[in-house]
Amino acid sequence: NSFLLPSRGAARARFSFEVFPARSGAAALALGHAVQHLSAADPDFISVTYGANGSNRDASLDLVTYLRDHTSALPLAHLTTVGEQREAVSAAIHAIMDAGVHDFLALRGDPPRGLTESDAEVSESLSSLELVRLISEARAERPALTSVGRTAVAAYPNGHPLSRSRAEDIDWLVAKQESGADLAITQLFFRADDYLSFVEDARAAGLRIPVLPGLMPVATSAQLRKVASLAGQPAPIELARELDAEGGYAPELGVEHTVALARELLAGGAPSVHLYTFNRHEQVLAVLRELGLLTPNPVD
Ligand code: FAD
Repeated sequence: NSFLLPSRGAARARFSFEVFPARSGAAALALGHAVQHLSAADPDFISVTYGANGSNRDASLDLVTYLRDHTSALPLAHLTTVGEQREAVSAAIHAIMDAGVHDFLALRGDPPRGLTESDAEVSESLSSLELVRLISEARAERPALTSVGRTAVAAYPNGHPLSRSRAEDIDWLVAKQESGADLAITQLFFRADDYLSFVEDARAAGLRIPVLPGLMPVATSAQLRKVASLAGQPAPIELARELDAEGGYAPELGVEHTVALARELLAGGAPSVHLYTFNRHEQVLAVLRELGLLTPNPVD
């Protein structure tokens, strides 16, 4: 009875992807091509950023709708509250649900260009906790037809810029769970222990939801600097040197580093890997192939 036999595939770690809305017609065509490849890999979901770096918010809804209508992947919509009134945030939740998408990443959001954390427009925005609750309320009003509907939240293994201590970051993450979050996705980081020790401390403080490590295989020195600024940490010196030695462009080095990091994370108990794709499929699929996570896998 095959039902009783342990399936090797079932034990395999899972993965998901992040993409962002394209900012030109040519980039949109390239993205359409990339998401077909990403979706064919059978991820748990593909998440779509919202308003990050000043990108157009309607473009985010368009991309979520495209994924829903033209790929087999489950879209997960990032949504932010920064600079918006409660009514506008509710309207945005309903617009995403109108597109048939009930899975969200609930975020406060980065300060819009020209504003800082101390500006009232930013500091008085609804927090991610309130957004998680608004999403749950909207979901209760209208059942999802094509997905269960889960709410993800952000986690910061190396600390959010606003927090003064790891304990504060963990308290805040546990509060997100208590508000109704089903899973967390981390900010980028470089070292496995950043994630593993953070999750261990968070579990001791009562966190039960899965925490997906966010990883990005960089291709260029500029991307490595960007990741370092998001991670709030200097990039590993070796990786920075090797990229510079290749003239600042070496996608295979980013793949190698991400594979090594992912192996340590999965061995340490991470439930899956969430890959920031930079809207390209080649590197992230190379990472998954190296890790043996793509199905069908001819060796199985
Ligand atoms: P919140 O959870 O509301 O709070 C952030 C931090 O502030 C907390 O960790 C805590 O340290 C501190 N804090 C705030 N309020 C309190 C309080 N009352 N008590 C104690 N501490 C408090 N940004 C975008 O604009 N668009 C995106 O699509 C996007 N995608 C992201 C995806 C991921 C996986 C991650 C990790 C981040 C993403 N961001 C995105 C960035 C995010 O919006 C910023 O980091 C933002 O500054 C914080 O959002 P948050 O939801 O974590 O905020």
